[in-house]
Amino acid sequence: MVLDPGHNGGNAAHRAETGRPVPDGRGGTKPCNTTGTATDAGYPEHAFNFDVAQRTERVLEAAGVRVVLTRPNDVGVGPCVDVRGTAGQRADAAAVVAIHADGAAPSGSGFHVALASPPLNPAQAGQSRALGTALHDALRGAGFHDSTYLGERGISLRPDLAGLNFATRPAALVECANMRNPAEAAVVSSADGRQRYAAALAAGILAYLRHP
Ligand code: ZN
Repeated sequence: MVLDPGHNGGNAAHRAETGRPVPDGRGGTKPCNTTGTATDAGYPEHAFNFDVAQRTERVLEAAGVRVVLTRPNDVGVGPCVDVRGTAGQRADAAAVVAIHADGAAPSGSGFHVALASPPLNPAQAGQSRALGTALHDALRGAGFHDSTYLGERGISLRPDLAGLNFATRPAALVECANMRNPAEAAVVSSADGRQRYAAALAAGILAYLRHP
């Protein structure tokens, strides 16, 4: 299993490096990487993503799943989105889940799962949808709600996410919460809240691995 915690703690201090264009997987380009968002109090998305990824890794490894992270810590730069996009095939992984949180208008809340669309290969067409549904159902089962501002019933079909476009293994990207929403900022900023997200993501991944 590959977990891809979005962004990185060193990105903001290396804007030239992270701003350089890389292939987006559909014939265009995107910046190598971005800084991500933050809560109004300054808790950064990259820290949330990395902490939730580590917590998810621990739950999965306890269940016997071998896990590879796309970055070893939260102080480095990148990797670029195109490199993240091929992490699943390089690790020969059963699936890839990218972990993010959003920075939208404060009135919006909830999570959504993004999938590459239109699909560029069979894994994106079939199994990625099953993975996304398993993640969605597990997050709902853990008490989180579908995004009120994006996607349809918690699923968002996206042509522009290089990290998904390059995947030839089943892949999904979870925007766990809106960090600019005060109630969700409180949840993502607490260790208990992050453990709840990790438990839900792990449950969704395990459900998918049992019935891909
Ligand atoms: Zn992000």
